[in-house]
Amino acid sequence: MDRVALVTGASRGIGRAIALELAEEGYAVCVNYLEHRQQAEEVAETIRRRGGSAMAVQADVADRASVAAMVRETETALGPVTLLVNNAGIAGQIQFQDITDEQWHRYLSVNLGGARNTIQAVLPHMLHVKAGSIVNISSIWGLRGASCEVAYACTKAALIGLTRSLALELAPSQIRVNCVAPGVINTDMVQVLGQETLCQLAEETPLGRLGTPEDVAHAVVFLASDKASFLTGQVLGADGGFIV
Ligand code: NAP
Repeated sequence: MDRVALVTGASRGIGRAIALELAEEGYAVCVNYLEHRQQAEEVAETIRRRGGSAMAVQADVADRASVAAMVRETETALGPVTLLVNNAGIAGQIQFQDITDEQWHRYLSVNLGGARNTIQAVLPHMLHVKAGSIVNISSIWGLRGASCEVAYACTKAALIGLTRSLALELAPSQIRVNCVAPGVINTDMVQVLGQETLCQLAEETPLGRLGTPEDVAHAVVFLASDKASFLTGQVLGADGGFIV
């Protein structure tokens, strides 16, 4: 069976690294993005230049119809999705009492609803062939909790719950569902914290540095691989020992 990966939020940061690493492993890759078309096209073009197959597809993961259209487009061009990586996510710092309805619903609909939308769109084929793998990107903050990031941390904790429950539901169909919980990874997302806080977080990390997008991508590649064929419902920390 051809291996086809859909990586959400793959124009930048962790998703970009996951898309590039999966292409090196022989996957044809759908590089999903929300706004940064040029960066997503560059990721797809890099993969093609290296001899792989890839396409960039715009879709807001919070929008079920767009996600369904993206999956149809991917299936037509690359083949049915055999690996789904739910990486797209948004974060932000705000005190709990100040979160508006709009912000609260956006966190839930992108970080959690996005995973639901993509999974439901790729599942019919996976269920039909009784094979497939899903990897959700959670966070250490979903395991530990994070002050001033309550909405974000809630969605990341919920992704762990989704991973474990869905792993049980889909195990009879031989579809594996796992999760990576990254530590502090040096991407655009964390730059709002400022250099001083990032240095402190690197010091708080037992391995003494921030993670790279590739550190997370390697964990995803492992969970997706046959070497992890007996692993489902697992949460793999790619966090330099932050949570032990
Ligand atoms: P990032 O640099 O901010 O990149 C976010 C990516 O998600 C971009 O490709 C963006 O697309 C895409 N995206 C955002 N909203 C989307 C939507 N509604 N639909 C489709 N795509 C959307 O973030 P990152 O640091 O790489 O984080 C990736 C994932 O890892 C997130 O789920 C994040 O919560 C998680 N994580 C990150 C860290 C960290 O320290 N960086 C730690 C733990 C977990 P555009 O480029 O088009 O905007």
